[in-house]
Amino acid sequence: MKIVMCASEVVPFAKTGGLADVVGALPIALEENAEEVIVIMPYYKAARNAKIEIQKLKGKIFYAVIGRNIKVYFIENDLYFNRDGLYGDKFGDYKDSLARFSYYCKKSLELLKHINFSPDIIHCHDWQSALIPVYLKTVYSKDSFYKNTRSILTIHNLGYQGLFSAEEFPLTGLDKSLFHMDKLEFHGKVNLLKGGIVFSDYITTVSPTYSKEIQSKELGFGLEGVLAKRAGSLLGILNGIDYSIWGPKTDKIIAHNYSVLDLQGKQKNKEALQEICGLPKRTDIPLFGMVTRLVDHKGLDILAPELEAICKLGLQLVVLGKGDLKFHNLFESAAKKYPKTLSLHLKFDEILAHKIYAGSDIFLMPSKYEPCGLGQLISLRYGSVPLVFKTGGLADTVTNEHGFVFERYKKEDLIKTVKEAVKVFADKDAWRQLVINAMECDFSWEKSAKEYIRLYKKIASIDNFSAIFSG
Ligand code: ADP
Repeated sequence: MKIVMCASEVVPFAKTGGLADVVGALPIALEENAEEVIVIMPYYKAARNAKIEIQKLKGKIFYAVIGRNIKVYFIENDLYFNRDGLYGDKFGDYKDSLARFSYYCKKSLELLKHINFSPDIIHCHDWQSALIPVYLKTVYSKDSFYKNTRSILTIHNLGYQGLFSAEEFPLTGLDKSLFHMDKLEFHGKVNLLKGGIVFSDYITTVSPTYSKEIQSKELGFGLEGVLAKRAGSLLGILNGIDYSIWGPKTDKIIAHNYSVLDLQGKQKNKEALQEICGLPKRTDIPLFGMVTRLVDHKGLDILAPELEAICKLGLQLVVLGKGDLKFHNLFESAAKKYPKTLSLHLKFDEILAHKIYAGSDIFLMPSKYEPCGLGQLISLRYGSVPLVFKTGGLADTVTNEHGFVFERYKKEDLIKTVKEAVKVFADKDAWRQLVINAMECDFSWEKSAKEYIRLYKKIASIDNFSAIFSG
């Protein structure tokens, strides 16, 4: 099958979160299953600076190659994309993102014609590429080039919908009749994700539990009704992680390689991490790690009020992340007060992230909601036992066999579970078993890629999709 993957961020070219990991890895897993895949993303400054050769085709078409022979095409527009950030800078979100991503979506469809790649499937990800299914069902509805093309929209996080003011709607180039509550209008605003939900042939999200949660009022972010309407074309497929990037046996970034058969290296990574972080080299107390965006829904709203109490529990905590200023300030003052316990790194740092996954005993990820979550999958791979709230993908991937799970989103329950983890850590045999169980989990892309292929085949085989199209 011919598959196009459209996303705003792709490892190794640009990344702000898990989306980039997924779109960097899934095409490679598809290629390993003999599918023909290409990727299209914006030509950000970050992509130009990535350490991968960018080649030039005819005209102004730029591409790079990942996997064996997957072409990643870049949509170029210096004004829109040659900036330091992907979506914003220290002054906040960029103000012209509707124009930027409408442009990206339109040009992606034009590019496919230009390179004569008539796809069976266009797989779009999140709001930035959600206009593609809309254009396919409107502007291109009678175009024979796209006659057999089916679109899929994967929602990685319903909390981010691409909302813009009504005045900006003409920038999409769509007929104004589409600014309607059954289509792209959402409480007087333009909602790009909603457009994708209404117009794509199929919708997926990144875990089975989250696919149900988003149809509820609590986690539907106002789109629960639209999603429930499309429940017959909605599926949860769990993300995997790229085991060629994430693996303690082969990881070149960490101080010592190790495996489930030889865990000595894990201890050495802990010591190395303590050293980098200026923490006392203690083997007798657990080292908790966090690699996260510092925002409320990552669990920060219940963790922050308990941070100092946690620092008194006989543990060490390394935090890598950036996000809301209020959390930067709070963590900074706690780190000053507890320098031998809390090591704080307010930045995005891939290298340190690897070292934290390898060197910590427990990975703290108490997200309030989590569509899939990659942090816990990576931490399992490195035998850093995840401590999570039972929600979304965390509920689907972490059990008491290889982690710590709390079931009420309350700070008391978080603290109780942290205390429990500290207690279990003191029992060396029980702990060793927990680490082994964690490392033996398999969340590689292998299984999930096959699920996507099954879905692609299913929707490609439906002759007249528009006949059953509910939008
Ligand atoms: P989300 O996409 O919601 O931020 P995920 O758990 O799905 O959360 O994915 C987060 C990814 O981003 C993981 O690969 C994690 O290691 C990485 N990450 C998050 N914050 C940082 C940071 N400050 N430095 C390096 N990597 C980070």
